[in-house]
Amino acid sequence: MIMEDLQQLLPEMYMKRPIIIAGPCSVESEKQVLTTAKELASNGIKIFRGGIWKPRTSPGGFEGVGAQGLPWMKKVKEETGMLVATEVANRNHVELALAVDIDILWIGARTSANPFAMQEIADALKDYGKDVPVLVKNPVNPDLELWIGAMQRIYNAGIRKLGAIHRGFSTYGKHLYRNLPQWHIPIELQRRMPNLPIFCDPSHIAGKRELIASLSQQALDMNFAGLIIESHCDPDVALSDKNQQVTPEVLNLILNTLVLRDKSTTTENLTLLRQQIDHINDEILELLAKRMRVTSEIGQFKKEHDMPVIQQARYNDLMEHLVKSGEELGLAPDFVRTILAAIHEESVRKQIEIVNR
Ligand code: PEP
Ligand code: MN
Repeated sequence: MIMEDLQQLLPEMYMKRPIIIAGPCSVESEKQVLTTAKELASNGIKIFRGGIWKPRTSPGGFEGVGAQGLPWMKKVKEETGMLVATEVANRNHVELALAVDIDILWIGARTSANPFAMQEIADALKDYGKDVPVLVKNPVNPDLELWIGAMQRIYNAGIRKLGAIHRGFSTYGKHLYRNLPQWHIPIELQRRMPNLPIFCDPSHIAGKRELIASLSQQALDMNFAGLIIESHCDPDVALSDKNQQVTPEVLNLILNTLVLRDKSTTTENLTLLRQQIDHINDEILELLAKRMRVTSEIGQFKKEHDMPVIQQARYNDLMEHLVKSGEELGLAPDFVRTILAAIHEESVRKQIEIVNR
């Protein structure tokens, strides 16, 4: 597909920045949905989200109320005038949601990672034959091509009101974020598709309420088209994602603190590239720090076993191997040698310090 084609996208009303989509992770009951929606609407929110079908990690988790929740979403439209959005993961969901005039569909991170499911959804949209707005979340794994591929399938089904949602990427182990932001990936997506509206979902990146405001500000600073934030009338009793949901009142406070910055468009591409460099630099530093921590453990082991700090043969093998791998990645051998020598020198210094402690 020609990338520029994807750039037509959502109509004008969606292009005013930043667009806020808010609502509960899950639709739970008519009362919960209407209470939340009315409060959000009274704070000026125009698009309501609510998950009807919930992809839960483990069986036994709350899997959503299913089709019985659709009339409640319809009631939200009627009683508040908001547009409503829900997640679809298969043909049946698409057909049921569109039959009750759900205005915007989004595709979840587990679904966008699955080309079979994406194709099934695309086929259902094609059969429906209207240009409904569809927002595609990034796949759970950090794979930009897979994300773009998912959007291409929707595009090929005739959908031009297309947007993306950055919700972070799955990771293993304990981290500050539930899903790592890896901002360079949506930034690269935006660079390749300058007119694609990309929303940020700080709720699913954060996994906890306290981080939502700062993530939202970062997203706006990076020129995201809008935010999709989970909001529940009583988050502590929410049936899913309760730690990351905020009340409509708290959401209002968060939104009021956000600063909209003026962006000059002429340097936008350069800014995007620089943002990527900044994030990659951060990653390099984190990796170096991690490497030094392992180095220290090796130093400790050598001390306990009375081993010499420098093992020349190991160093030579390592250097030879990495110079070769570097060349395959397009890195000049001298460059790789210089960097490795500097890293090795610091590792040796650190180990000598430990051995002599
Ligand atoms: C959601 O939006 O509630 C959801 C399930 O999101 P994700 O697909 O990003 O995990
Ligand atoms: Mn959720």
